[in-house]
Amino acid sequence: MTVAKVIVDVPAKQTNRPFDYAIPERLSRVLMPGMRVIVPFGPRKVQGFVMDIVEESEFPKLREISELMDIEPVLNKELLLLSDWLTEKTLCYKISAFQVMLPPALKAKYEKKVKLKSRSQLEQLSPVLQRHFMNKDIIPWEEVSGGDELSLIQKAIANDLLEVLYEVKERIKKKQVKLIRAAVSKDKLQAYRLEIPSRRIKQLLLLDYFIADGLPLERSKLMSMLGVSSSVIKGLLDKGILAETTKEVYRDPYKDREIIKTMPLELTRDQAQAIQPILSSLKEEKHDVFLLYGVTGSGKTEVYLQSIQRVLELGKEGIVLVPEISLTPQMVNRFKGRFGEQVAVLHSGLSVGEKYDEWRKIQRKEVKVVVGARSAVFAPFENLGIIIIDEEHETSYKQEDNPRYHARDVAIERAKRYNCPVVLGSATPSLETFARAKKGVYQLLTLSKRMNERNLPHVEIVDMREELREGNRSMFSRVLHEKLQDRLDKKEQTVLFLNKRGHSSFVMCRDCGYVLQCPNCDISLTYHRYNQQMKCHYCGYESIVPTTCPECASDHIRYFGTGTQKVEEEIAKIFPQARVIRMDVDTTSRKGAHEKLLTEFQEGHADILLGTQMIAKGLDFPNITLVGVLSADTMLHLPDFRSSEKTFQLLTQVSGRAGRHELAGEVVIQTYTPEHYSIELAGDQDYDQFYQREMMIRKIHKYPPFFYISLITVSHEELMKVVSVTEKITRYLTSRLSKEAIVLGPVASPIPRLNNKYRYQCLIKYKREPNLTDALKAVLDHHQQDIHQSGLQIAIDKNPYILM
Ligand code: ADP
Ligand code: ZN
Ligand code: ZN
Repeated sequence: MTVAKVIVDVPAKQTNRPFDYAIPERLSRVLMPGMRVIVPFGPRKVQGFVMDIVEESEFPKLREISELMDIEPVLNKELLLLSDWLTEKTLCYKISAFQVMLPPALKAKYEKKVKLKSRSQLEQLSPVLQRHFMNKDIIPWEEVSGGDELSLIQKAIANDLLEVLYEVKERIKKKQVKLIRAAVSKDKLQAYRLEIPSRRIKQLLLLDYFIADGLPLERSKLMSMLGVSSSVIKGLLDKGILAETTKEVYRDPYKDREIIKTMPLELTRDQAQAIQPILSSLKEEKHDVFLLYGVTGSGKTEVYLQSIQRVLELGKEGIVLVPEISLTPQMVNRFKGRFGEQVAVLHSGLSVGEKYDEWRKIQRKEVKVVVGARSAVFAPFENLGIIIIDEEHETSYKQEDNPRYHARDVAIERAKRYNCPVVLGSATPSLETFARAKKGVYQLLTLSKRMNERNLPHVEIVDMREELREGNRSMFSRVLHEKLQDRLDKKEQTVLFLNKRGHSSFVMCRDCGYVLQCPNCDISLTYHRYNQQMKCHYCGYESIVPTTCPECASDHIRYFGTGTQKVEEEIAKIFPQARVIRMDVDTTSRKGAHEKLLTEFQEGHADILLGTQMIAKGLDFPNITLVGVLSADTMLHLPDFRSSEKTFQLLTQVSGRAGRHELAGEVVIQTYTPEHYSIELAGDQDYDQFYQREMMIRKIHKYPPFFYISLITVSHEELMKVVSVTEKITRYLTSRLSKEAIVLGPVASPIPRLNNKYRYQCLIKYKREPNLTDALKAVLDHHQQDIHQSGLQIAIDKNPYILM
């Protein structure tokens, strides 16, 4: 076994295959598939993944692997193989497939340096360059990359005087602590103790600690416990009486939290019925996909917990996916409370180091259960027994960058390989999933009632046009106003929900109608009262708020719409006594802020929780008896065929926040389009009816689940180029696909310009197109050069969730 097949970290079509490398003698016994290595590639050194190790190569002369980056594989066999599937499914490069499976800490970063090859040749360098290398052999690239010296460097490299190094920099180290232990036997310690004069109290103390069966202890703890200084320890270290070792420790973000141990609850009849098929598929080691369909509070989580319990009894492992914003401490505690130390948590709120630590626990088989957001679906378990996806309809399970995978697809694919079940849970399943469950592709399990027969909250829909007609110009309808006042009087809590951060708070001129736009994107800027800034939510562009209209110079320039900040001010005016906690991207960007605000609310330090999407999920506080949705329609008008579905799901979710406990709940939904079926049916909490209506519309317009769709978005700085490339792609695809396929385009994207690049798209709707993947690959291949040289971008999404 002397040849390693390596996928190198050079994302390009030509390098999207394994390269053969010789394994140097010193690595021959340690190298394994799934490890990362550094290999020479052309003139530089790059990172790579060892796919396989074989006897020989068809190439006569191989270069050698330079370095090993891992001492144990970071990808197991199954994940290595899964990369083939992922590459095919999402049309990404192999290297991207590997990288998405790893925690960010393991994603390599390169540092470029220039090295003088031999000091004896210093004089041969041009004087300008000599200066840099006077007293060092290696300098950072930045030191010379500025200007004129580049060509000199180029020449020196050609003459073999200098070389460019690409050093892979690992962003994170394992966190280690220094431990002090006795280096000699107890007898020797005793003997040594006798030699020490009695005035050296601290040394004696230290020795006594280790003589009295003292276990290795962290240096700092030892110092504080015994009150000895670092020099005392050093003295004994130098003498070889004590020794220092290092131990890897984990940064545990949950370590200071007290978690109450919970026991399995006795299942209700519904729950027992629902769990039975899951347990039998576990027993028979069968791959099945279940849809656990039940309203919020119907006891789905208990079903998850008891399924996992069985998985653990079988000696296997489980993955639980939860949408990022629902991954609250409450949620995590339900799993830690049941399975304690066997649970690792992976979500984006963790620091890079913390994530890495959690991942290591999985890799070292120190945990059996992972609770995490989307990317946790790649948890490196090797004996998977179940994958659970809670709130399966959530669009955050789809990754919008390369590789554009959907966690549900990955879960099903991995589960197939382990012959284990997948459980999808939701109160408002995605249409695709529910349709599959109805067809019997997935098994439908239903929990039809809320626990303890608690009623769903009463929902009232308020027509805001009517309010306006009757002279109410406030953002609160009379009904909501009245109920809010009532809750304040009764000291009960209210959740106020606003769709999207500052979604419609734009600045408009009342004289000419001009709306302030981002200069880089065709999108209106959002007004942020807090720092008096206009901000583009797509590219981050910021500018000050103008006092006069840039178009007509009128000073009748005004802010429109309702951002969370504006609502907060309005509440302060109408209900001066109310204590408000505002949760949006602005107030929760600091680490831990999210949790802190929620805890404050839970502990009753506020009467009203005001927020965006992020408060729609996972809140389960007993004192919430009123939920108000300020504007239900903002999402309805997005150019997206799923906008009704998303509106329905969100409103249903939000409504579910009220009255989960003893106190009854009420919901008020304010809208300008009360007659829209997604709002009306969300009011009735009638998923089945909504499903029927929406399916009809999807069928008429040939959208999923009746058709598959793929979206190609082309972007570039020059409009003409974008149009002509998109046109070419559209024509090519039309010729390659069957007559049944519908190829729409070229058309400008709903956001026609982003970050100074024009955007055009081509949408394909189809049922069965065996040629599609090949055709799409051909599109990418054909434009390779343009992509690498002129900055042309072609994004292909085989199952888009964002159509903008
Ligand atoms: P879901 O996940 O469907 O929103 P939960 O699992 O959170 O529902 O259940 C709602 C509430 O009912 C929780 O407080 C939970 O502890 C409780 N519960 C769930 N199953 C049972 C059971 N079998 N017996 C008693 N209480 C239960
Ligand atoms: Zn104007
Ligand atoms: Zn912008």
